[in-house]
Amino acid sequence: MTCLQFTSYLHEYLFEPMSEAEKRRFERHLSKCPACVDYLASYRATLALEEGYKSNTAEKAVIEAPQELIDIVIKRLSLRKDSE
Ligand SMILES: [Zn+2]
Repeated sequence: MTCLQFTSYLHEYLFEPMSEAEKRRFERHLSKCPACVDYLASYRATLALEEGYKSNTAEKAVIEAPQELIDIVIKRLSLRKDSE
């Protein structure tokens, strides 16, 4: 198995039922390819983030603007008010 095959079938490896023989092909590749171990770890982390995001959508919907940006907006608004 190549890295390209590994990454293109990663979703199937994690979520689809597959035969023991196929699973072993993935695991064999992982055992000798640290790059794909890293890739798998970051893939799982991304999925976990997405899951967390989905379950907290209501809270996350509140966008926090940096104070700097708020100051700029307030300044612009007050400038506009002065010129009117
Ligand atoms: Zn690889």
